[in-house]
Amino acid sequence: MDDFQVDVLVVGAGNAAACAALAARETGASVAMLEAAPEEERGGNSTYTAGAMRVVFHGVDDLVQLYDLTEDEKRDVDFGKYTADEFLDDMGRVTNYRCDPELTDILIGRSFETLKWMRTKGVRFQPSYGRQAFKVNGKYKFWGGLAVEAWGGGPGLVDLEHKAAVKAGIPIHYQTAAVSLIEEDGVVRGVIARHKGRKVRIGAKAVVLACGGFESNAEMRTRYLGPTWDLAKVRGTRFNTGAGINMALAIGAKPHGNWSGGHAVGWDMNAPEFGDLEVGDNFQKHSYPLGIMVNANGVRFVDEGADFRNYTYAKYGRVILQQPKQFAWQIFDGKVKQQLRDEYRIKQVTKIAGNSLEELVSKMDDTDQKVALETLKKYNAAVRTEIAFNPNVKDGRRTEGLEVNKSNWANTLDTPPFEAYAVTCGITFSFGGLKIDTQARVLSSDGEPIPGLYAAGELVGGIFWFNYPGGSGLTNGAVFGKIAGASAARSA
Ligand SMILES: Cc1cc2nc3c(=O)[nH]c(=O)nc-3n(C[C@H](O)[C@H](O)[C@H](O)COP(=O)(O)OP(=O)(O)OC[C@H]3O[C@@H](n4cnc5c(N)ncnc54)[C@H](O)[C@@H]3O)c2cc1C
Repeated sequence: MDDFQVDVLVVGAGNAAACAALAARETGASVAMLEAAPEEERGGNSTYTAGAMRVVFHGVDDLVQLYDLTEDEKRDVDFGKYTADEFLDDMGRVTNYRCDPELTDILIGRSFETLKWMRTKGVRFQPSYGRQAFKVNGKYKFWGGLAVEAWGGGPGLVDLEHKAAVKAGIPIHYQTAAVSLIEEDGVVRGVIARHKGRKVRIGAKAVVLACGGFESNAEMRTRYLGPTWDLAKVRGTRFNTGAGINMALAIGAKPHGNWSGGHAVGWDMNAPEFGDLEVGDNFQKHSYPLGIMVNANGVRFVDEGADFRNYTYAKYGRVILQQPKQFAWQIFDGKVKQQLRDEYRIKQVTKIAGNSLEELVSKMDDTDQKVALETLKKYNAAVRTEIAFNPNVKDGRRTEGLEVNKSNWANTLDTPPFEAYAVTCGITFSFGGLKIDTQARVLSSDGEPIPGLYAAGELVGGIFWFNYPGGSGLTNGAVFGKIAGASAARSA
């Protein structure tokens, strides 16, 4: 690979990068994308997703602009709606009202038009029946405001985005990792990249950084998220090592957002160190609201039913990491077995089973089994069984009198077979990153835009804090990727 020059250089080849590249190309600018990964591992975390995308919609009339529905589906399925106010409420609530107001308004306000635009580029969407809908009296009912997912999940999304890029004449350079920014007189003029061990100089009138956070870098995780984070597993790509953030900070960009925070979930204890595309996100174990969790000391440590899993799963990974030996058991009984998500039925699962609580507990290695059995019995005795169980609403079926109560969906564990799944912490992405303005220009420590430098996606700080509403990572990358690409092209 030789040195080359382009109008807009996009660093990364995930969802944010693809949207940036396509938006820049629309203006007539010449565009290239750099991908650190080889082609078979392309697309970063975006490839690892299930493709869920949080978007404002007001009913079926909006959804048919994003995906095709049969007349039967239009009539029989209750898709509900998801208003801008609801999205804002969710963003505020899960981020403890720290989310940047201007950027959050843009994320929400442009979500629908951005997905529509993606569709014009060849991305396909579908209703997320598998994960976001329950059958009530034989009919599907969506919940949690998440009715849209990319067709083919993350791999389908990235595949169609890359096809669109190639069709638009945007080359994607694989195994080409940007290592530093070229800056002349305070203006970014390209990057130095490493391609198969060789340094390459790529000149550009504008650079868009869309190369992910630092979640795959154990040293940065430990430095910023804190002790034990080096022990977490990584749910996605091994290539998001914080390079984009570091190279921008090196020229004076402002660090911004929740540097001590990351999105992390319950993840199979024996999953590999980084994500495995064969398994995708199926190492996650998100049905804990239907059961309970105990740690190695045999005690419960969190309210599994505090809220719908969409609003708790991203913070409970950290809570599991903080437990002794960094793991927990998720325990269910036969009554809810059919309601467990598909990810519980994969073959790469760390699972034990028993026909009695005693038998189950006797198989819990590395755990205080005596205390665990007492915990299960105390939990059973504390359930308000007169309150009806209903997984579609926060049913208030709770425990009372426990040190850690369960607020909703508290079923007694009384029906064999009993099952327990061992989980640890899997980090999804880091929250801290660069500060951008409403045009996705990267700001320097003095608050001024750094000429020629734009950013989008995971490496932008200030939008997500502590947690994020599921499905908003891809929408965030798409909305700000499109803005960054268009702004970069305008300046080029
Ligand atoms: C298992 C899993 C499931 C998820 N599920 C969902 C979901 O259903 N919905 C949702 O909204 N979000 C989900 N997320 C979060 C979502 O993946 C991210 O928010 C989103 O994909 C981030 O997009 P991005 O383009 O910013 O980063 P990425 O998609 O990670 O792209 C970063 C790109 O930069 C490349 N790169 C890194 N360093 C360099 C470098 N130095 N030079 C060149 N290239 C580089 C990477 O290889 C990659 O191509 C999930 C994440 C994981 C891991």
